[in-house]
Amino acid sequence: MEVKFRLAARYNAQALTAVQIGPVTIGRGDLVIMAGPCAVEDYDRTLAAALALKEYGAHIFRGGAFKPRTSPYSFQGLGKEGLEILAAVRDATGLPVVTEVLDTRDVELVCRYADVIQIGSRNMHNYALLREVGRARKPVLLKRGLAATLEEWLLAAEYVLAEGNDRVILCERGIRTFETHTRNTLDVGAIAAARNLSHLPVIADPSHAAGRRDLVAPLALAAVAAGADGVMVEVHPCPEEALCDGDQSLDPAAFARLVPLLRQVALARNGLAAAAG
Ligand code: PEP
Ligand code: MN
Repeated sequence: MEVKFRLAARYNAQALTAVQIGPVTIGRGDLVIMAGPCAVEDYDRTLAAALALKEYGAHIFRGGAFKPRTSPYSFQGLGKEGLEILAAVRDATGLPVVTEVLDTRDVELVCRYADVIQIGSRNMHNYALLREVGRARKPVLLKRGLAATLEEWLLAAEYVLAEGNDRVILCERGIRTFETHTRNTLDVGAIAAARNLSHLPVIADPSHAAGRRDLVAPLALAAVAAGADGVMVEVHPCPEEALCDGDQSLDPAAFARLVPLLRQVALARNGLAAAAG
């Protein structure tokens, strides 16, 4: 068989790769929880969100400074000011931060502030950007394109790995299907398949998959049952007032209820896997 994924594939008995993000290790069995608002809005709210999320069990804080919005008239993020807020929030809370980079020209800037650089779904096919983050000295969270096959997703990871950056985390965030009740369809099978085909850690983003708050918890739990090494969930201190993606954002109390359930499912899953050898 032609070797398509020279660097992303998991060969027989190859150990899984764990990615270190500050004090957090992802890919070693312990469930990693990333949470935060869709976008960084201002310092006070961002800090309040991060403090609450840390207390409720989040390991990594998320928040967009550069936002890839469907409409050019929607809020585009605070840019550099958003990155400065994220870095200040990391210093105040100790939580590493993940944030998206949209443009090759901003990779250096984003790397100066972020602990993990995110490639969004819309940019999974942006090969110049993939190469650029492949040269960066930061872990990369690579979201699956909303219409990308599993193979295309792993080949996108291959672009990053081929430039010498071996710290790639795959993120399934839902794909576009004929369904309209949800924003996208979380491809739970792809989480399990990516975990088998690749040695890279795999996480799930149930928020962008669901597009609606009521489905975030069940999808997150399903993703963990299917083998996800972590989840990334949008949480806003006051979702009705969020500048973007409020409909799919949990409030901190709902997040607090979800975390112990996620941990129970991860424990059960790890126990079953150990028993099966
Ligand atoms: C995000 O996580 O902020 C985001 C824009 O997600 P996606 O790229 O999956 O749409
Ligand atoms: Mn969002």
